[in-house]
Amino acid sequence: MSQTPCIFCKIVAGEIPARKVFEDDDVLVFHDIHPQASMHLLMIPKRHVENLYDADETHSAVLGKMMTIAGKIAHEQGSPDGFRLVANNGRVGRQEVYHLHFHLLGGTEPLGSGMNRH
Ligand code: 5GP
Ligand code: ZN
Repeated sequence: MSQTPCIFCKIVAGEIPARKVFEDDDVLVFHDIHPQASMHLLMIPKRHVENLYDADETHSAVLGKMMTIAGKIAHEQGSPDGFRLVANNGRVGRQEVYHLHFHLLGGTEPLGSGMNRH
């Protein structure tokens, strides 16, 4: 858990609500509160880590799990024909919430072609 209040840690703890679509001991997936696509999910490790700069070998298993389940979740949540997986890291990456997360963006029609923003 973070020393500072972290909004995603509060979602993990159930202290603030979220529309969850998947949860196990290590990973939580929920709808982004401001969707940028018809499917816009956030996938987070339950154990707080700021971003990929701070990831180390102790995060390998959960990172692997997230990559392994992303396709199945995207398929189930309305993206059967493709989706985008994005992690914004740090200032240059325009990260807003400093708890590592992957955006799963999709729907049934192709997303915008820009790579700059999710
Ligand atoms: P970032 O810019 O850090 O990659 O993305 C953070 C994302 O978290 C944004 O897309 C924003 O809409 C989402 N977000 C911020 N606060 C909340 C919240 O309280 N609940 C949910 N479900 N999403 C949030
Ligand atoms: Zn956190």
